[in-house]
Amino acid sequence: MQGLMQEWPLLCTKVLDHAATFHPEREIVSRSVEGPMHRTNYRDIRARALKVSQRLERNGIALGDRVATLAWNTWRHFECWYGIVGIGAIYHTLNPRLFPDQIAWIMNDAEDKLLFTDLTFLPLVEAILPKVPSVETVIVLTDAAHMPETSIANAVPYEEWIGEADGDFAWKTFDENTAAGMCYTSGTTGMPKGVVYSHRSNVLHSMLAQQPDAMGLSARDRVLPIVPLFHANGWGIAFTCPMAGAALVMPGAKMDGASVYEILTTEKVTFSAAVPTVWLMLLQYLEKEGGELPDLKKVVIGGSACPRIVTQTFEERYGVEVIHAWGMTEMSPLGSLCTLKPEYAGLTGEALLDVKDKQGHPPFAVEMKITDDENRDRPWDGKTFGRLKVRGPAVARAYYKGAGAEQFDADGWFDTGDVAHMDANGYMQITDRAKDVIKSGGEWISTIELENLAVGHPDVGEAAVIGLKHPKWDERPLLVIVAKEGCQPAKEDILAYLSDKIVKWWMPDDIVFVDEIPHTATGKIQKITLREQFRDYQLPTAAED
Ligand code: AMP
Repeated sequence: MQGLMQEWPLLCTKVLDHAATFHPEREIVSRSVEGPMHRTNYRDIRARALKVSQRLERNGIALGDRVATLAWNTWRHFECWYGIVGIGAIYHTLNPRLFPDQIAWIMNDAEDKLLFTDLTFLPLVEAILPKVPSVETVIVLTDAAHMPETSIANAVPYEEWIGEADGDFAWKTFDENTAAGMCYTSGTTGMPKGVVYSHRSNVLHSMLAQQPDAMGLSARDRVLPIVPLFHANGWGIAFTCPMAGAALVMPGAKMDGASVYEILTTEKVTFSAAVPTVWLMLLQYLEKEGGELPDLKKVVIGGSACPRIVTQTFEERYGVEVIHAWGMTEMSPLGSLCTLKPEYAGLTGEALLDVKDKQGHPPFAVEMKITDDENRDRPWDGKTFGRLKVRGPAVARAYYKGAGAEQFDADGWFDTGDVAHMDANGYMQITDRAKDVIKSGGEWISTIELENLAVGHPDVGEAAVIGLKHPKWDERPLLVIVAKEGCQPAKEDILAYLSDKIVKWWMPDDIVFVDEIPHTATGKIQKITLREQFRDYQLPTAAED
């Protein structure tokens, strides 16, 4: 017997319909790329998104076409996503921090037909467009008054372009498994791989992100997504906020400490999400300039491991709850969040921070396990490392055009490429990327844990750990440090600082100080480049043993 409930395809546009109907006046505030703050609401955004749909159709964009966006978080970028999915086309976010040739490669792989871009990126677009023949039209997210001279033949200012539509249009309907969005993985090794979200996966992901032990957003929140829409599906925030009826505060192109502080306070932001680097910049700004965060209640921190000092400073100094989260482009992207279960109630001080260092537990609709290299389950004892594997309705089942097939097994598990341990309460902690973990004498050393401890030293600005070849132990850790401005820490001092925090055989064999640590386009430490840089470096212990 079948249930007698309605067929109601889970389409992304239903989320905006809901916000426009039940939260029509809720604000969407943006720092525009042109400069001034811009204010609108869900009702008006929906009306404009319908115009985007109508206008795209007039440009010949149809079901299944890929429409690229190279843009900051603003109301225009947000409404474009809905306009694109409203006719069954696919938003394809491009990361401007990638090398131009890599962006061109990605656009060609996706065969993008139309491109929305911000003013900031016009020079970049001018350089790459000749290499991407599939793009027929470029829409510049500005008005006629701000439209600059450009060598792009068919570039049109956005406001004039949608001004040609009257908005008398209805969203198209189709199967909920239809593709809605595309985002390429950061590609720290090999070529980037395309992840293709569906309408259904985006809607389900928003519902899982809404849960109180996930992001727990409500209509009372004012949300500042500092994480760009082009990073890992924008952490789902473009769907989660309208679903909750939360107000959106878009930071535009400015993510430095002073700008983030200004927008957090003037717009009374209650909730924000960003990678650790952004928060480090904000906290360093506050340390120098002073200031309080009276409205901010919660921050979600992920994308790389959140240093303990960030959690501690937010919680103890500013009274802001930190939710450490882990996820991946392939997971839409949320995988786990570190909210506290009653088992951990009453913890304080270092014991509480020990838990908060973990990446947390998965919400409903994410299955998770750790295995050895032979796919056997590993125990959940909070210390045994294993390969982290996941499954769920918002997890990729393949990459675009079948790339990376070896990461998916016959039972539907996706091998994340991360190494982690799980504890008895179901809390996961990432210890490394599989390719970064240091194998010393047959045992594994977590580079992430060492890095997090090292940045706890008051003179250390940033730290990275890599494994170097060692004649006796196979590999041994080298700690690479960028000192804080004006500080000159001594090697011995840092080793002494670490000595009571880790077991002896985890101690770095050497420390080097550098001016800069290389990062990927999504702000992660680029270990491949670092390993290359220190390939011929002689560890002092290599000679001794
Ligand atoms: P991306 O798809 O660019 O978001 O990258 C996903 C990868 O970032 C994951 O597989 C992890 O290696 C890393 N990552 C994300 N969040 C965290 C976190 N909280 N702690 C440690 N690594 C993380």
